[in-house]
Amino acid sequence: MDRRKFINLSSLGAAGFTLQGFIPTSLNGLSTTITPIVVATWDAGLAANKAAWEVLGSGGKALDAVEKGVMVTEDEMNCCVGLNGNPDRDGFVTLDASIMDHEFNCGSVAFLERIKHPISVARKVMEKTPHVMLVGQGAQQFAIEQGFKLENGELSKDAKNSYQNWLKNSEYKPVINIERKNATTQLDASKMAPHRLSNGEWNHDTIGMIAMDSMGNLSGSCTTSGAGFKMRGRVGDSPVIGAGLYVDNEVGAVVATGQGEDVIRVAGSSAVVEQMRQGKTPTEACKIVIERIRRIKKEKAKDIQVCFIAINKKGEYGGYSLHKGFNYAVHTPQGNTLHEATFLD
Ligand code: ASP
Repeated sequence: MDRRKFINLSSLGAAGFTLQGFIPTSLNGLSTTITPIVVATWDAGLAANKAAWEVLGSGGKALDAVEKGVMVTEDEMNCCVGLNGNPDRDGFVTLDASIMDHEFNCGSVAFLERIKHPISVARKVMEKTPHVMLVGQGAQQFAIEQGFKLENGELSKDAKNSYQNWLKNSEYKPVINIERKNATTQLDASKMAPHRLSNGEWNHDTIGMIAMDSMGNLSGSCTTSGAGFKMRGRVGDSPVIGAGLYVDNEVGAVVATGQGEDVIRVAGSSAVVEQMRQGKTPTEACKIVIERIRRIKKEKAKDIQVCFIAINKKGEYGGYSLHKGFNYAVHTPQGNTLHEATFLD
């Protein structure tokens, strides 16, 4: 699944655009053509990748691509990412997001309410403040100061229904990824609103995206409404740099989805980057950290899902999950395709 043919040597000497990408440098008479790539979690990643590719395909920056890409998912009515997502157990949608560029600049927001594009607020935190992370009311206040609109805070129709269902038992029971486990066919799964469970159990509600641009720079983004019906104030892995997202421009970029608590425990995305630094391929690196999580969780590993996607500096990519059912979308100049991730059990 890894893409190995990444750096094409070209005899062209001058900088310029080709079908594959931008030709930034000339080394000993040979120029290296860097082929951009973007990878995003779940099937919602296909639409997000398309928007990201509008930036990457015309020579734009990976950082802009990963912001623009996931904004599409934050906007989707039928998706649990963003304000249309499932609320917490008290009935409020609270959002987490993070973004990181190729120079270790990073920004995140957590427990943010009534703001439509948390990923863009995270980027503002990165670019306009001396901080990395803002949470709750402070994050909201900052967003408003930066010109973001305060939305009315009403639940979407689907979220209202899910919440009413959940209230019947008010069971605090995290079960991630159950809709795909229960679906008998891919078609069954796709008939459901992405990532929303009508029975009101926890599920994944995240899009993560990692990209390399035609200059060879890496960036990543992650945005989520978090685990549905979570405790009020609960923050997952997605806004925690090193857990839900990590980018080291010398090595690679990684983003996580699934049970956030278990990603945080192992500093998941950072751990995958470190494996790639030791020479592991993206898929091998993701697998090693997934195995670590299973060792830690022992028997309880069967009740959770954790998934990583990764790209390395050579443009190779991969994904791995604890259980069956995780997929991710990959966009290169050859097209935008959905891949089933390999898994442990
Ligand atoms: N990782 C997210 C969280 O724990 C959930 C998800 O990926 O769906 O908040």
